[in-house]
Amino acid sequence: MTTMPIDAAPAELPIRDEPLAYVARLDARAESLVEGIVVHCTETPDLATARSLGEHLLYSSGTGNSGHYYIDRDGSVWSYVPITRVAHHVRGHNGNTIGIELVNRGRWPRWLDSDHQGMNEPYPDAQIDALIRLLQKLEQDLPQLRWIAGHEDLDRERVPAQDRPDALIHRKLDPGPLFPWPRVLAGTGLQRSTGG
Ligand SMILES: [Zn+2]
Repeated sequence: MTTMPIDAAPAELPIRDEPLAYVARLDARAESLVEGIVVHCTETPDLATARSLGEHLLYSSGTGNSGHYYIDRDGSVWSYVPITRVAHHVRGHNGNTIGIELVNRGRWPRWLDSDHQGMNEPYPDAQIDALIRLLQKLEQDLPQLRWIAGHEDLDRERVPAQDRPDALIHRKLDPGPLFPWPRVLAGTGLQRSTGG
């Protein structure tokens, strides 16, 4: 019988590297420019749907919208864009941030309907544990990293609802009221930013 030494370091967080086809066309940046983390949820039923949204080309540069990292409900972590590339995940803050997407239904599939604005799916423990471990790793790798924000804090624009143009709804609500901020902040040295 073998025994583990009691001071063994926790196993490194497994991250599956599955870059989007267009990553080489995203702007390059130095790691040292990254100062903040933006937490998102995918607002999709599953990771495969989130992946296909990320693959969808939206810009003349031949790129689309995606986070850098995706965390599934079971805590598995995927890298879709290297942190040395600027991903399109939040308006006005892409250049100095990393986007982390948690798989969660959000308002899927009627994101912009006035009667469908609840963000009701809880975040499982395994998913939040993996997020905290990923944040700890990024803090280690990027000593200048200072802050963390929700997408909803950085994009507060309201737009006419799809079903009722006279009603204004929030364009972005992720990660929403069920995201456990106190637990996540207790697990990292990052300060929460609410966009100022
Ligand atoms: Zn988002």
